[in-house]
Order: sequence, then C-alpha cells, then structure tokens
Amino acid sequence: MSLFIDDNLEQHSDGSVTCRHCSHLVGDAAAPMNAARVTETAPRTAGPSVREDAALFADRPIVFRRTFCPECLTLLQAEIVPGDEVSSRHRSLIVGA
Ligand SMILES: [Zn+2]
Repeated sequence: MSLFIDDNLEQHSDGSVTCRHCSHLVGDAAAPMNAARVTETAPRTAGPSVREDAALFADRPIVFRRTFCPECLTLLQAEIVPGDEVSSRHRSLIVGA
C-alpha cells in the first residue's frame, strides 16, 4: 500500500518516498526529500512580486530555496527562508508518539 503525501510525493509501505511523476526515490518516511536536488538563489529570482532587497528587512542572508526531483526535475517545494537555516517545512505520514 502506498499513500500520497501531496501532488508530487508518494510514500510506500517500506517507508521509501518516490516522485509521483517518474517514480524516482527522493527520500524516506523520516526525511521525504533528503535525496532531492536543492538550489538556492537570490529571493528576487522568485518572480516579479519579490522586488526589494531582503537585506533591508533581515540581518541574516535570505535565499529562495527550491527542491526538485533529481530525475524529472519536478519542483517539489519552494520557499524564501534564512539561508543559514534548514527547511522548516516537512512532509511526512509518520505519526509521532
Ligand atoms: Zn520525478
């Protein structure tokens, strides 16, 4: 049995997580995107709605972080976050005790 985490990720009964578009392994139940490809660019590259320099509002470096399937390059996640922090967004079907 497998379960859809979202439109792009599927978790299987063995805990593996694959891309729903190409079935490539992208992670496991504990870290669904640990094998995904990550790029970081300036926040302005997110689009025309992000115009101002992030340094005007934050003391820390801010990045536009995108996470892709390493095989078909489907965008799995996009976020504008402090560059010195790991992603705080998580997807998992694990139920904590
Ligand atoms: Zn894929």
